[in-house]
Amino acid sequence: MCSALSRLVIERPGYSMPVFATPAPKAPSATGGTPWLLTPGDRPGRPGPPVRRGIPGAVLFDRDGTLIHDVPYNGDPARVRLMPHARAAVDAVREWGVPVGVVTNQSGVARGLLTPGAVEAVRRRVEELLGPFDIWAVCPHGPADGCGCRKPAPGLIHAACAALGTAPHRAVVLGDIGADLAAARAAGAQGVLVPNEVTRPEEIADAARTAPDLLTAVRGLPTRAGGAP
Ligand SMILES: [Mg+2]
Ligand SMILES: [Zn+2]
Repeated sequence: MCSALSRLVIERPGYSMPVFATPAPKAPSATGGTPWLLTPGDRPGRPGPPVRRGIPGAVLFDRDGTLIHDVPYNGDPARVRLMPHARAAVDAVREWGVPVGVVTNQSGVARGLLTPGAVEAVRRRVEELLGPFDIWAVCPHGPADGCGCRKPAPGLIHAACAALGTAPHRAVVLGDIGADLAAARAAGAQGVLVPNEVTRPEEIADAARTAPDLLTAVRGLPTRAGGAP
């Protein structure tokens, strides 16, 4: 365990027992619905991070294809593999004192291919490898459910920012496909595309900002007052 993670765990003694800030439904709703929000146990009621001009209020990472390799509808923690530089990128954000979150579509739940427990098992494995995140916002719905959280809708970003006490326009979203950047745009957040082998050329062309890998993306963000956003 690296020193940064040790420090975070010590500072957040309640972390080991994540709670559902909104209960995970037994079954996804047929229409509409809200995202699952999973937070460290000591997060509810905590004040948001201080506003530091020019420094992001939160950095929100897509999960599949961004933090970890995309294994479609994976519910097996043993199949979780990190994307290049993921640990260094997340740690760099933590070292600024900026909250880190995950915003992820998991339509496998709506399709009956994933249980809430499987999503949680993968989340735990990701945190074993990457350390704790301040918020997880998970859309369990399918494309036909009409929810407001499935990316490219902005609901996951709005929900994560609300839980973190930061304004969406101060958040940065890092993702690997156009839907991640569209969600960021719809939420008023800044998006950075980190393409991989499945990213389509038109998605790269449409992106306001791209980076060749996650660490480069993070290093391109402002860490002191005076920069954007
Ligand atoms: Mg992705
Ligand atoms: Zn949803």
